[in-house]
Amino acid sequence: MFHRFAVDFFRLCLWLLIIMMIFVPLERISALHVQKVFRRGFVIDLGYYFLNNFLPKLILILPMALVGYAVHRVIPAAFYSGVAGLPLRIRFAAALVIGEVGFYWGHRWSHEIPFLWRFHAVHHSAEEMDWLVNTRAHPVDMVFTRLCGFIPIYILGLSQPARGTLDYVSLLVIFTSTLWGFFIHANLNWRLGPLEWLLTSPAFHHWHHTYEEPLNKNYSAMLPFVDRLFGTHYSPKSEWPSRYGTVAPVASGMADQLLQPFTPPAQNG
Ligand SMILES: [Zn+2]
Ligand SMILES: [Zn+2]
Repeated sequence: MFHRFAVDFFRLCLWLLIIMMIFVPLERISALHVQKVFRRGFVIDLGYYFLNNFLPKLILILPMALVGYAVHRVIPAAFYSGVAGLPLRIRFAAALVIGEVGFYWGHRWSHEIPFLWRFHAVHHSAEEMDWLVNTRAHPVDMVFTRLCGFIPIYILGLSQPARGTLDYVSLLVIFTSTLWGFFIHANLNWRLGPLEWLLTSPAFHHWHHTYEEPLNKNYSAMLPFVDRLFGTHYSPKSEWPSRYGTVAPVASGMADQLLQPFTPPAQNG
């Protein structure tokens, strides 16, 4: 058990180092805002990086197993065998699209339902944006949005961990969306041109983090078509938001951030 934990911890440190070696130099070359690498809250966000890579996995096991059990009782096995027989690239592409729709609604509800906003406000409390803000999330928020993204993928059988083979689709979805998450939070002044029709960009997600008008836009993680579909897309050609954060203050310490959502509510903003 301890050995497993040590290996996981080492792997996480290695990943962090690789991601840091990609984004820190990029943010120096193409900085959107002038700010320090070790900005306020940097160490807290490192704490979230480790916490959210250990805790949600443990919490997710039970609800995921229940969903798997329930859908396999309701939907015929032949359907799942058929889907499992599709090429990996088709299942992966479909999982990205379906998962994005599930994530979109989980994320949107996290803004619109006050109880969920209490947890999601932690992610929005960052007043400076950079790659590491991607890790800042209350574990409850992380678990909820992950569930919303993965439940439709499991229901459709695009990922079938119960089949006993390595679940490449889930791994690829998590890998791709996590890496993209670091990118869209980064302090980069990059625009993606016509590709922004297909993929989210730092500008797209930075607008999601502003507490000035327009509020509550751009919920998609990777594929902005969902925002276009549901009327929440906002991506002006050359403007960027200047301020980030929440209207109502969020606690600055990690322990307080973890506990605050369980006490009286913050306002959406
Ligand atoms: Zn949000
Ligand atoms: Zn974000």
